[in-house]
Amino acid sequence: MVSFALTRADRAILKEAKAQADLASRHAREFEHDEDRMLPHAFPEAEGRPDTRAMLAHLEPETSGAKILTALLYLEDWRGGVPLREARYSLGNTALRIAGAPEQYERWRNRTIAIGLTESVGGSDPASTRTTATWDAAAGEWVIEGEKIFITYAESCDAVLVLARLVHPERRGLSAFMVEKGTPGLSVGRQFRKMGIRFEDTAPLAFSACRVPAFNHIDGDLKSMLRSFSESRPVVAAYALGVTRAALDFTWGRLAEIGIAPDYDQGPTETTAAADRLMSLEAEWEATWTVVLQAKWIEQNEGPGKIDSSMAKAMGGGLARRVTQTCIDVLGVCGLSDAYPIEKAFRDARIFDIYEGTGEVQRLIIAREILGYSPKELN
Ligand SMILES: Cc1cc2nc3c(=O)[nH]c(=O)nc-3n(C[C@H](O)[C@H](O)[C@H](O)COP(=O)(O)OP(=O)(O)OC[C@H]3O[C@@H](n4cnc5c(N)ncnc54)[C@H](O)[C@@H]3O)c2cc1C
Repeated sequence: MVSFALTRADRAILKEAKAQADLASRHAREFEHDEDRMLPHAFPEAEGRPDTRAMLAHLEPETSGAKILTALLYLEDWRGGVPLREARYSLGNTALRIAGAPEQYERWRNRTIAIGLTESVGGSDPASTRTTATWDAAAGEWVIEGEKIFITYAESCDAVLVLARLVHPERRGLSAFMVEKGTPGLSVGRQFRKMGIRFEDTAPLAFSACRVPAFNHIDGDLKSMLRSFSESRPVVAAYALGVTRAALDFTWGRLAEIGIAPDYDQGPTETTAAADRLMSLEAEWEATWTVVLQAKWIEQNEGPGKIDSSMAKAMGGGLARRVTQTCIDVLGVCGLSDAYPIEKAFRDARIFDIYEGTGEVQRLIIAREILGYSPKELN
């Protein structure tokens, strides 16, 4: 039977994560005007406090499971606005684990691996990839040429897993390659000046006569590599749950000062419009929480499910937009001031409906899965 009741160990880990998110929140705005500044490994307040990921590793058999708890830890990190201790969710590592050969995974498993899919021609459709990998038989090397944009951890990663079109006498199609930092021909552009999540390292990468050995070719099929999104999309939805939890709590707090509180026993004619709007969003928040936990529960017990993962991501992205927009409506002009955390939440939250697949693309994936259409038939 599926039960999302938290165990005693879950509660202990999450209690510590909540305390750490509250401490981190005082640093949340430090990166707003200095995007070149990298997130520290840990803020000073982390000193003497347990690492919640280490707690999870230690207590795992007593928890609801690492997949579920990890998503809930990210929820708390994002509730704080920045993580107190850096805990990267790097899609490149997941993709390498899924699509790489055991010896390739072993070689890079402890490194931070960025993922390089998006190009200026459009990120939603991998088929539009222009970056090429040309086989040089004499040298036994691949030569990568092209550009990727909006790459998370572009500057701070150890390597990037890059998608490229094969130029080879016997092979065609798309494939992935590991390119380590410091490889001649790989360069990192300047940090993007983003609307939100400015504490996260995001920059373009350029590949010019960039040579990698045959070993670096991740020769699994593209479908299996893209399966890594099924693990990461509910995590992005957990980010959305964290940012929206903070926004809702803050807004309820301001409303409490003028005597407005949620009352779920009252009908809409007996409550204020502000409370009614926020209570509807609370219901949506809980529904999204349940879908995220379900996606992670399925992943934990049966392996990642494409449809559940896309549902979680689509719901999280929509929730993030609606909650932060409504909090600004309810708070009035103060909601736009940087004295309140809501305008930052609004800017951060918009991105959850874009990266790792936009809301529109999630809805397409769900429709294809339900109706049994291929990407060619429904696009
Ligand atoms: C902060 C941040 C970090 C990122 N990190 C990474 C990273 O680490 N690695 C990486 O590779 N990329 C990364 N991205 C890029 C991100 O994955 C893409 O922005 C995203 O996939 C959308 O691609 P696009 O922006 O090129 O939009 P496009 O694909 O050009 O789409 C434009 C619009 O058209 C819509 N659309 C596209 N196709 C369809 C369709 N078939 N039906 C209906 N609507 C459609 C989209 O929903 C969107 O609204 C990051 C982006 C951001 C903002």
